[in-house]
Amino acid sequence: MRVLIVDDSKSIRMLVAECIFSLGHETVHMESGNDAVEYIKENSVDLIMMDVEMPGMNGFETTQKIRKIKGDDDWFPIIFLTTQVDDDSYTQGILAGGDAYMEKPISPLRLQLQITAMERIYRMRQKLEQVQDSLLEANKTLLHLSMFDQLTGLANRRNFDDTLDREFKLAKREKKPLSVVLCDIDFFKLYNDKYGHQKGDQCLADVSLVLANACTRPTDLACRYGGEEFIFILPSTDLKGATIIAEKVRESIAKLGIAHTESKVADHVTLSLGVATYQGQFKSGEEVTKAADDALYRAKEKGRNRVEKA
Ligand code: GH3
Ligand code: MG
Ligand code: MG
Ligand code: MG
Repeated sequence: MRVLIVDDSKSIRMLVAECIFSLGHETVHMESGNDAVEYIKENSVDLIMMDVEMPGMNGFETTQKIRKIKGDDDWFPIIFLTTQVDDDSYTQGILAGGDAYMEKPISPLRLQLQITAMERIYRMRQKLEQVQDSLLEANKTLLHLSMFDQLTGLANRRNFDDTLDREFKLAKREKKPLSVVLCDIDFFKLYNDKYGHQKGDQCLADVSLVLANACTRPTDLACRYGGEEFIFILPSTDLKGATIIAEKVRESIAKLGIAHTESKVADHVTLSLGVATYQGQFKSGEEVTKAADDALYRAKEKGRNRVEKA
């Protein structure tokens, strides 16, 4: 533990420090309440041994100030060292934020036993902090798992649904366009049949990387919509702008040149895309998606590896 000793008497500070040091703890010395308060503003400690009778600020006032500075989040025991052991003084000390009371002159044995007892609390606090840290970490992981697809790292379907719902309401309120682009890998069943499921997964991951990089604005979102289908949410983007992005995506995927000898449209992996834009005509995000799906269907019908507008 890191123990702060506050006492105006040097000889008492030395005596207390020796007792604590011999138990294997680190000590810091302050000779006034003011110095202790200044120290505590910048540093953390695990225990304070606090003299009550000091010139200037006494131990009770110092304790009150320290508790106020540290708030509820950083608690550590404070033990008073005093010659005044009457009920009034004891009450004042505990109400000021202290936790134990030791009578002067100090018995080194009792002091060491008190420190040993406080060390138990210190160990419990450390454990609690570790548990809190790992809970925070686990929560972060869970949140990420609930919002992102593991294979591709893109936003998952649930994330898509929530984001589209939010962006649709925003577009409606602000009377702004909202585009979605639905993308589907051409002849992907044949890809899996030819190269195997693992290569299929790798292909999905490689395609996803390009899709993620296609998002230029911070509000754009690329999502895995399902199996080999992906969807972009492009807020404040009109049909013209969305079509340009869709065409760029189509070209980038073709340029990746992932071999696909079984495809009936090229010798590499290609995408078909359907673009739809909300300009006040739809009642929900789902209706925009449905329009993009219809456009995608036409892109497939017309021969694949192309972009169609709703
Ligand atoms: P189309 O050009 O009409 O889109 O034909 P397609 O073969 O791409 O479409 P279809 O819907 O018939 O097949 C989709 C395939 O995608 C079938 C399925 O095995 C594959 N698939 C879906 N999810 C995954 C996945 O997570 N990993 C792999 N490797 N394959 C997947
Ligand atoms: Mg004193
Ligand atoms: Mg499909
Ligand atoms: Mg497909």
